Amino acid sequence: MKKIFSIILMVVCSLFVMIGVSSCKHEHTVIIDEAIAATCTTTGLTEGQHCSECNEIIISQEIIEKTDHIVVIDESVAATCMATGLSEGSHCAICNEVLQEQYVIEIGEHVVTVITEAIAPTCSTEGQTVAESCSVCGEILSVSEIIPPTEHNVIIDAAVESTCLSSGLTEGSHCSI
Ligand SMILES: [Zn+2]
Ligand SMILES: [Zn+2]
Ligand SMILES: [Zn+2]
Ligand SMILES: [Zn+2]
Repeated sequence: MKKIFSIILMVVCSLFVMIGVSSCKHEHTVIIDEAIAATCTTTGLTEGQHCSECNEIIISQEIIEKTDHIVVIDESVAATCMATGLSEGSHCAICNEVLQEQYVIEIGEHVVTVITEAIAPTCSTEGQTVAESCSVCGEILSVSEIIPPTEHNVIIDAAVESTCLSSGLTEGSHCSI
């Protein structure tokens, strides 16, 4: 008799649920709907509860907004004469989304270092042009070249007329340097 009663109760209960009257009285079997943590890419949910028999929501789960990205700075890389560089950027540590894109910095100039200084020529000694290399890549940028001696700075030694008292001199010349 008790069994029949409970069957009737179930049927009535089902009918009520079917026609949308959920005021069917029974002890809810509480199932915990676990909380889901929000990330920077997905929303989360607070913990909720529902009944496993009638599916009624006892505590509804609230949507938790997405969290902010965790910003990681991507250091800038200086360009050299051998390699391109990169500007500073940033990305998210969690989802790897690029937040600030790094752009390529063109290959830079050589860093000029003097190997041998230029030497100015004189009328008696050779000179040389400057020799330079790059202190970063070692490339020779200019080779020292010999500069030939300069022309003598000719000074005319005027002729001296001979007189009855002294002998004369023909015209000569010498270098003032
Ligand atoms: Zn229930
Ligand atoms: Zn992220
Ligand atoms: Zn270089
Ligand atoms: Zn000279």
